[in-house]
Amino acid sequence: MRLTRRVHLVGSGATGADLSNPYDCHVYLVDGGGPLALIDAGVGLEPELILANVRAAGFDPANIQTIALTHAHADHGGGSGPMHELTGAEVLAPGPAADWLQQADEEAISLPRARAGGTYPADYQLAPCPSAISISGGDTIHVGEARLTAIATPGHAREHLSFLLEGDDRVGLFGGDVVFQGGKILLLSTPDCSIQELAATMRGLGELDFEALYPGHAGISLRRGRQHVDAALRAFDAEEIPPNFNA
Ligand SMILES: [Zn+2]
Repeated sequence: MRLTRRVHLVGSGATGADLSNPYDCHVYLVDGGGPLALIDAGVGLEPELILANVRAAGFDPANIQTIALTHAHADHGGGSGPMHELTGAEVLAPGPAADWLQQADEEAISLPRARAGGTYPADYQLAPCPSAISISGGDTIHVGEARLTAIATPGHAREHLSFLLEGDDRVGLFGGDVVFQGGKILLLSTPDCSIQELAATMRGLGELDFEALYPGHAGISLRRGRQHVDAALRAFDAEEIPPNFNA
């Protein structure tokens, strides 16, 4: 599903457009005019459905050189190992999340309780991604004629990056699970979720200039992405908590 000159939606689950496995987050393809990148990898249950969408958009999955993960929660990072095996792409993950994926550390990504609570199938297991590489806020990823800049955006999870896309027909932000349509946020009762960190992250995003917001779930805004950050900021500035997104 083409969104802009360089961005396509190629994976999306039950909280989105049902383009791929129901447990998938939004998975975006960045077309660098030759080299390709994926933003997030989905849950890993049916990665071939995502690659079929890549082909249907007119691209060869063999040109996917990079898979950049916003964070390691299973719906975003669980597909990194399977997707690496299918494409050979380099997997980039925030900070220690690269180690967690290498070792398939389910505790570190808060998977056992999410699975027990029915967020994932009872028999779901995190597949290892032995080649995952650690990146940090400030790092730049070149995708042909496009450029992604990693921004540390802790809160929903401590190890969380957003990616600012330049070189497209508009500046865009891949926000992962930081902010959703209407300024909603996604608070979890996981040990590394912090409302204070999320408020600070949102203030940082409020300083950024971007037009498109590509979140990890639900509605996408191509022209007025900032309004969702601003809506969340209005709640934080009033010392309130923005409404929670029910994934
Ligand atoms: Zn998440």
